[in-house]
Amino acid sequence: MRRITLSNGKTVEVECLSCALTSGLVEPDGGVVLETEHFHAHQDVAYPIKGLIIVASKRHIKCLDELTEAEKADYISILSKIRKAQREVLGIEYVYYFYNEDTTHHFHTWMVPRYEWMNKFGRSVESVRPVLLYARNEMNTEENIQEVLKAIQLLTMELNK
Ligand SMILES: [Zn+2]
Repeated sequence: MRRITLSNGKTVEVECLSCALTSGLVEPDGGVVLETEHFHAHQDVAYPIKGLIIVASKRHIKCLDELTEAEKADYISILSKIRKAQREVLGIEYVYYFYNEDTTHHFHTWMVPRYEWMNKFGRSVESVRPVLLYARNEMNTEENIQEVLKAIQLLTMELNK
């Protein structure tokens, strides 16, 4: 079992956080943004950044080449739907996508929006870790949390209308 600290300060002990989230064992802050036959999308539970969405497979797999044909089609479809909603309701111009196969969780893709304040950390892949840490350490304010929750609501409404 692994102990994971959520953005709201609670800790959970789970074998695989992605399984816990996609099965509903752990309820992500703000709930599920979009669910399809094979994927589950929610606000990242560790970093309070508006529109930072995690797309996790429902199956406990690690690698891209483990996706079935149906999952592959569903994957690109859900990513592009969310991307469009991020642009339309949150005005997000650019997104960085991350996915690593040697994760301790299972298959999940991070959709990290770029905001003006992130530019001071640079624009490379290396800038992403400091951006995330800054968000977790400096942006856990009541005001920002409310903005993150509002962004989740907007995305959820746009994606499920
Ligand atoms: Zn899993």
